[in-house]
Amino acid sequence: PDVRELLSSRIRDVQDYPKPGVVFKDITPLLADPVAFSALTDALAGLVDRHGATKVVGLEARGFILAAPAAVRAGVGFVPVRKAGKLPGATLGQAYDLEYGNAEIEVHAEDLGEADRVLIIDDVLATGGTVDASVQLLRRAGARIAGVAVLLELGFLGGRARLEPALGRTPLDSL
Ligand code: IMP
Repeated sequence: PDVRELLSSRIRDVQDYPKPGVVFKDITPLLADPVAFSALTDALAGLVDRHGATKVVGLEARGFILAAPAAVRAGVGFVPVRKAGKLPGATLGQAYDLEYGNAEIEVHAEDLGEADRVLIIDDVLATGGTVDASVQLLRRAGARIAGVAVLLELGFLGGRARLEPALGRTPLDSL
């Protein structure tokens, strides 16, 4: 069957989570289905090849689950972008605003070089704030952005438009 249909069929809507009025997209049924998870991994690894990425960057935490097998399947390295305070080595950090309050993410800059073109992977693109901050962080770390790939995009939240100034012609794929 069509990969998009297969993936869509394995994403569960959870009403009123994490708070009333919000419909949470739960990807755990997809992860529990080996055929769907493998199809997703193939699709992401295909984007690594298509965009000429030399590294895959996963965003904590669900981004890790999608990005790591895609990196292995594509034959490139994996670099985690983590919430502040989790990485033991020398880090670069990037603060950003959330709906309520703010957050900070970090990366081990030594794992990225000027020659690297990274594919950023996360599960869900919502407002785009997380990916936006990651793009700034990774560029400051010296990497170029080969592309951004997410399993799904909540179009009504406008993340794609928000990322336009930062990404320009850099591809943003939602599967
Ligand atoms: P954004 O920064 O507003 O784009 O939010 C994206 C981040 O929030 C991603 O790291 C997602 O994992 C998480 N997120 C937002 N909405 C959902 C959802 O409905 N399901 C799963 N994760 C979500």
